[in-house]
Amino acid sequence: MQFAGKVVLITGASSGIGAATAKLLSKLGASLALTGRNLDNLKKVSSECNVVPQTDSKTSTPLIVTGELTNENDVKAILQKTIEHFGRLDVLVNNAGIIFSGSIENTSLDQYDQIMNTNMRSVYHLTMLAVPHLVKTKGTIVNVSSVNGIRAFPGVLAYCVSKAALDQFTRCVALELAPKGVRCNSVNPGVTVTNLHKTSGMQQEQYEQFLKRSQETHALGRPGTAEEVAKTIAFLAGDDSSFITGATLPCDGGRH
Ligand code: NDP
Repeated sequence: MQFAGKVVLITGASSGIGAATAKLLSKLGASLALTGRNLDNLKKVSSECNVVPQTDSKTSTPLIVTGELTNENDVKAILQKTIEHFGRLDVLVNNAGIIFSGSIENTSLDQYDQIMNTNMRSVYHLTMLAVPHLVKTKGTIVNVSSVNGIRAFPGVLAYCVSKAALDQFTRCVALELAPKGVRCNSVNPGVTVTNLHKTSGMQQEQYEQFLKRSQETHALGRPGTAEEVAKTIAFLAGDDSSFITGATLPCDGGRH
């Protein structure tokens, strides 16, 4: 029960990596605030989380707060409701994200803004609001980036730029907050089987071909699972990584 007594806020908890992280951290004793846009999915994830025994409060099941992360009022409400409910925050997992295909020749400014607002600006905003609470608990921040933040890949330009920005955000925030006892790291997954392709408009058949190709582009010969990324998030969020900050940790099966 490594996370007993800890309050963890996870964005994008309604699907994929965020949902797997919620389930894992609840098993490890965390009290959870789960946010996303799809209430039905959030309820389903919550029902699959362990009920966490509490010593002094009624909050044994996850708090669900729906919200659109590109909406500033929603971001404020997500943080406010978490603090009102639990009275503290120990871990922020900035996981929500979207992807579109597109190169410099065919990515519109609107698409660029949508990706940057979701994958980077909302992270900046939520983290900014969370920091005073994380300083009080000497907490941790885990950002879910991508191998696309570390390496260039053609045809997903805005996504790569958003994740590279997120990695630099991770490094800078880590240095700024280290003197206050707050750590900040990112996990950089390779291809991971989730619902992410649906936001890109990729059809199921195309996605299956893409997953098949990933057997060749990942040294371990397969794409990753959300559960594998969740374990890396738990490592970076907890005391097992107590001397790690500012890291961008690939969880990518040897993507090449
Ligand atoms: P999913 O599509 O399965 O999950 C994305 C989550 O983000 C959903 O819970 C979704 O909420 C939420 N979300 C997206 N946009 C918004 C928004 N504007 N406001 C609020 N919530 C939002 O994808 P993954 O689990 O794969 O993605 C999680 C993270 O992992 C992302 O940052 C992604 O870039 C990163 N990643 C994924 C990889 C992969 O191959 N899957 C590889 C590398 C990195 P809802 O559904 O409720 O709208």
